[in-house]
Amino acid sequence: MTDQSGQKIAIIGGGPMGLGAAYYLGKQGHKVTVYEAGDRVGGMTASFDFDGTMIERFFHFICATDYDYFEILEELGMSDQLNWVNTRMGYFYNGRLSNWGDPISLLTFRGLSLIDKARYAFKVLYCKGLKNFDELDQQKATEWLKKWLGPKGYQVLWDPLMSLKFYELQDEVSAAWIAARVQRVAQSRESLFKEKTGYLTGCSEVLMIAMQEAIEKQGSEIKLSQPIKQVVSENNRVTGIDVGGEVHAYDTVISTAPLPYVSQMVPDLPQQDHDKLARIKNVGVVCLMFKLDRKFSDYFWLNINAPGIEMPGIIEYTNLNPLNGKDHILYVPYYMPQTNPKYSWDNELFYEEVVKVFKTIRPEFSEDWIKSFHASRYFYAQPVCEPGYLNMLPPMQSPLQGFYMADTSYYYPQDRSITESLKMAKQLVELAVADR
Ligand SMILES: Cc1cc2nc3c(=O)[nH]c(=O)nc-3n(C[C@H](O)[C@H](O)[C@H](O)COP(=O)(O)OP(=O)(O)OC[C@H]3O[C@@H](n4cnc5c(N)ncnc54)[C@H](O)[C@@H]3O)c2cc1C
Repeated sequence: MTDQSGQKIAIIGGGPMGLGAAYYLGKQGHKVTVYEAGDRVGGMTASFDFDGTMIERFFHFICATDYDYFEILEELGMSDQLNWVNTRMGYFYNGRLSNWGDPISLLTFRGLSLIDKARYAFKVLYCKGLKNFDELDQQKATEWLKKWLGPKGYQVLWDPLMSLKFYELQDEVSAAWIAARVQRVAQSRESLFKEKTGYLTGCSEVLMIAMQEAIEKQGSEIKLSQPIKQVVSENNRVTGIDVGGEVHAYDTVISTAPLPYVSQMVPDLPQQDHDKLARIKNVGVVCLMFKLDRKFSDYFWLNINAPGIEMPGIIEYTNLNPLNGKDHILYVPYYMPQTNPKYSWDNELFYEEVVKVFKTIRPEFSEDWIKSFHASRYFYAQPVCEPGYLNMLPPMQSPLQGFYMADTSYYYPQDRSITESLKMAKQLVELAVADR
C-alpha cells in the first residue's frame, strides 16, 4: 500500500506493537501494510476458543499507570469497557496458604522475622517512589535483592520467582528491571490495603480487534498468515520484503517481531547489529490453563514457595475478570530457557504436575473439578534483561536505511506490557516519520 507521499511502509507483526505502529502512522495520514505470521491479530494477547470460552492464551491485567493503554481506549471509544477490581494476592509458603500484599498480611506472615519484614516493606516503598533507574541499571537483581532483603528474605520472597523463571540465567537479570516491575504493581493500588487491578470486558482481544478495524478504516491493510521471510535491500537501503518467495516493494519496513528472528530475516544488517542480536537471550513460556467448575481460591495471584514444587504461582483469572460467572479459569505459567528439558515436556506431564500442586495447596481438590485443560507456548516470551541492557541492543533506527526494529526488549527497564508496546510503537513511528 502506498501512502500520500508515494512511499510504501510495511510493518512486520500484528501484535500490540505492530498494530500500534500502524494505527499511529494512520493517524498521521500514512497508509501501511501489516504482515502477521499468525492467523489472527494480537500476538501474545490473542484469544482462542477455550472449550466455549473466548479468552486470551496468556493472562493480561492492567495497572493504574498504563497511560498509553488508557489513551488508545479513549480514542477508540472503549473506556467504558475498562473495569477495576480490588484483587487479592496469596502466598503458599511452608505448607500454609496466607494472604499477601498488604501491611497486615506482611505483619502476620509466619515465614519472616520482623526485621526481614521491615526490610521488605522499605524495598517496596523505595521501588514505588523511584524516579530514575540509572543507579540500578548496572547491578544484578539477585545481588541487589539479597543485599536489601538479607538471605532469608531473599530465599522466602524472591528465590522461587527468579530461579523458576530464569533458571541458570537468574544471575544475569538487571536490578533496574526488577525494581520497575515492583514499581508498576506498587503504584497500582487504591490504598495501602487495597490492590487495584484492571481488565477489559471481553479480554485484551477486543482492543486488538478495535485497533484492526480502526487501521482498516484509516485505509491501511492487515494481512494475516503472511510470515515475512526476508527484508530485501540494495546499496544499504531497504527495497522490499519477501513473503512466501514473492518480493513486494517497500522503502520502509518496521519490524516488531521478537529480536531473535531479526538477524535471519534481515541478513543485510551491519555486522555489529548481528553481533548484538546474537547476544540477546530470551526465555520461553508454557502457559497452562484450567477451567474448573468451582473456585480454587479467592486470590487472583497466588505465589508459591515450597520444597519440591517447581512452579512459582497460579493466576486465578476469574477472580479478576468473572467472564460468564460460571467457569473458573486458572493460568499456570512455566517460564524457562527453551533449552531446559522440561520445555519439551508433553502437555500431559505438566498437567499431572499441576494437579499434584493443586492437591498440595487444597487437599480437597479433585480432578473432577477440571472441565477443560489447555497449554499454550511462546518461544520468545521474555527477554532476559541484563545490566546495561539498552546498550546491548542494536539501534531501533538501523544503519540499514528504511529499516526500524523493536520488540519487548526495548521497554527496559520496564517489563513487557501492552501499554509499553503502544509507547514503543509511538517511538518507532516518530523515528520512521522523522526520517522521511
Ligand atoms: C504469560 C504472559 C503474561 C503477560 N501478562 C501481561 C499482563 O498482565 N499485562 C500486560 O500488559 N502485558 C502482559 N504480557 C506482555 C504482553 O503480552 C506483551 O508485552 C505484548 O503482547 C508485546 O507485544 P508485541 O507486539 O511487541 O509482541 P508480540 O505480541 O509477540 O507480537 C509480535 C508478532 O509478530 C509476529 N511475527 C513474528 N515473526 C514474524 C514474521 N516473520 N512475519 C510476520 N509476523 C511475525 C508474531 O506472530 C506476533 O504476532 C504478558 C505476556 C505473557 C507471555
